[in-house]
Parts: sequence; C-alpha cells; structure tokens
Amino acid sequence: MKKKLVVPVVLCLAWTSFVLGEVQGAGESIAKAEVVVEGTVVDDTAITATESSLALFADGQFDPTLTGPIVDHMRATLLCEVVLLDGHQADVSGSRENMIDAVSGLVGNHQGVVALAHLPEDATAHGTFVQAKRVALLNVRGLTGDGGQKQLLSRLKKEAVHAGGLLLGIAPCPNSHCVMWRYKNDEGLDFKGSRFCPPCQRRVRALHGKGG
Ligand SMILES: [Zn+2]
Repeated sequence: MKKKLVVPVVLCLAWTSFVLGEVQGAGESIAKAEVVVEGTVVDDTAITATESSLALFADGQFDPTLTGPIVDHMRATLLCEVVLLDGHQADVSGSRENMIDAVSGLVGNHQGVVALAHLPEDATAHGTFVQAKRVALLNVRGLTGDGGQKQLLSRLKKEAVHAGGLLLGIAPCPNSHCVMWRYKNDEGLDFKGSRFCPPCQRRVRALHGKGG
C-alpha cells in the first residue's frame, strides 16, 4: 500500500475570508489559527487510514430532507462510509466551544464528525475545523444565501466534503475547481467544484488503500 499521505499541519482552522471577524467572539483560540500550510505532503509516514468512516450530525433546527443528499454526496466523493447520526444524540447549542465539545462526544470510532449547526448569529465563518477533536462545524446560518434551498444544499454538499476531507487528512488545494479549495467569499464558494481535483482524488483513494 502506498504510504504517501497528506499530513495536515494545522491543529485547527476556520475558513472563508470572514474568519478574521470571528476573532472578536468567544472562540478566539479556534478562529485565530488561520495559518495553513497548503499541500504539505510527507512520504513514508507511518499514518495509514484504512477502515475510515465519518459521521454527519445535523442539529434539530436543520431541514431533515437535506441530510440524505449530503450523506450520499459525501459517501460518493470521500469514498468512505458516512453515518448519519440522530440529531437528538447531542445538544449542539450555546457557544461555539460548547458546540464543539458536544459534537466531539459523538466521535467514537469515527475518523471525525461533520456537524451542521446553527452557530451563534455573530459567527460569520462558514465553518470551523478542530483537528485535535476530530470535529468540523458547518455554520448553516452563515452558509444560507439568497439562492434558496437549492443553493444551500449545493453549498452544504461542498463544505461537508471539504470538512470530511480535512478530517481524513486531505489538505486544502490551490485548484479553484476542487472542493478542497479555500474560497474567499460567497462567489468563490458557489464557483468552486463539489468534487476533488485529480491529485486530491488520488490522495483520497490512497488513503483508503485504493491505489493512486
Ligand atoms: Zn484538489
């Protein structure tokens, strides 16, 4: 099996250009860690991920009709099992720190949990990734634009895969057509692709022992 893996060097990051505004909120330690070393590829690392699975959690405010398409897209793109958790399993509310702690309690044997959460209204970042806790929060309110449910679903599919990729150890990508691209604004989010570019795709396949 190939041992060429992307090793993320960031403990946590939040995405979009609006992240810096987040620093004023309660989550300083999370949002400040904006520094990302892109594409750090390390050969011959001992890390291997074979039987990976991710979990998707949606809080009680989330439209349940959207979770199925998101899970399906994650499975097809990330090439691993994605378990849809019961929205009643955790009380994901309050401050962002409380949400992260609540979601981290759901990780179990999963590689990580992607949570669709309604962050506090002053949270402007579209997502927060805390690698140390294997948790990614997607800010549903922040990702909601003027384009209705179709646009929201498209955005959530992209960002759920983006978050899942980070949890699996796939680094952000400079290709603006790739789902791992770190867009800077809503237009960038709507422009970028919902799937991996070929190099990122090869990394995902290698992660799962499916060759490059
Ligand atoms: Zn890529």
